[in-house]
Amino acid sequence: MNWLDSHCHINDEAFREDLQDVLDRMAENEVTKAMIISSYLEDYEYALQIHDERIAFKRSLGIYPGDVDEVDEKLFDSYVRHYHDEECVAVGEIGLDYHWQKHNILRQKEIFARQLDIATQLNKPVIIHSRDAIQDTYDVLKAHPCKAVMHCYSDSMEMAKEFVRLGCYISISGTVTWKNAKEPLRVIRNVPLDRLLIETDCPYLTPSPHRGERNEPSFVVHTGKKICEELGLEEETFKKQLNENYHRLFGL
Ligand SMILES: [Zn+2]
Repeated sequence: MNWLDSHCHINDEAFREDLQDVLDRMAENEVTKAMIISSYLEDYEYALQIHDERIAFKRSLGIYPGDVDEVDEKLFDSYVRHYHDEECVAVGEIGLDYHWQKHNILRQKEIFARQLDIATQLNKPVIIHSRDAIQDTYDVLKAHPCKAVMHCYSDSMEMAKEFVRLGCYISISGTVTWKNAKEPLRVIRNVPLDRLLIETDCPYLTPSPHRGERNEPSFVVHTGKKICEELGLEEETFKKQLNENYHRLFGL
């Protein structure tokens, strides 16, 4: 069984110069599945061009909560048109971010909820971004039920359990490998294995021992190994579980 990266941005500018090397390192490290996340239509078009015969790429598109001020109805409709594409297997990342913007909370909730409803109509899962907004994220999702993954989950173990009760998956990033990781460890110990995923969110949130470097999908292995160590799991067992979860969530 191979590793997978359930959330990466290799369509980001940060990878324009050496994408081929990045893909080679994925193959060398047996990271053979990855979800490429796009927040902009141009990034999505570019993501559709990324192919490698050794790696199964899937793609998702969504209106990022930090961008809602820029989104008018015309632009909203162009996103929605792409949500119908067969290549767009999930809607996301979507959600709420009160860390950077608090002046437009109502608008963030509205755009989030509308995208949740569309995903449900299309029978597609959603990838949720929530920062400093966990209770509101929970409330909106509860009112607009959807097959969902909490990407880069960084809130409490107690809230993680609430999301699991709503049917959500919890995706763990490289922060679980950091020295000060305490809550992420509580989260992995308390979320059922069949609801866990791992991701890089690259180019951000680089796991140890690469902190300070640009993150990339091959580094997801460090996150996976750390979780195996903490939970006393065989790597093969965990990889198999991750692959099952990934396929079940994204309907692959
Ligand atoms: Zn992301």
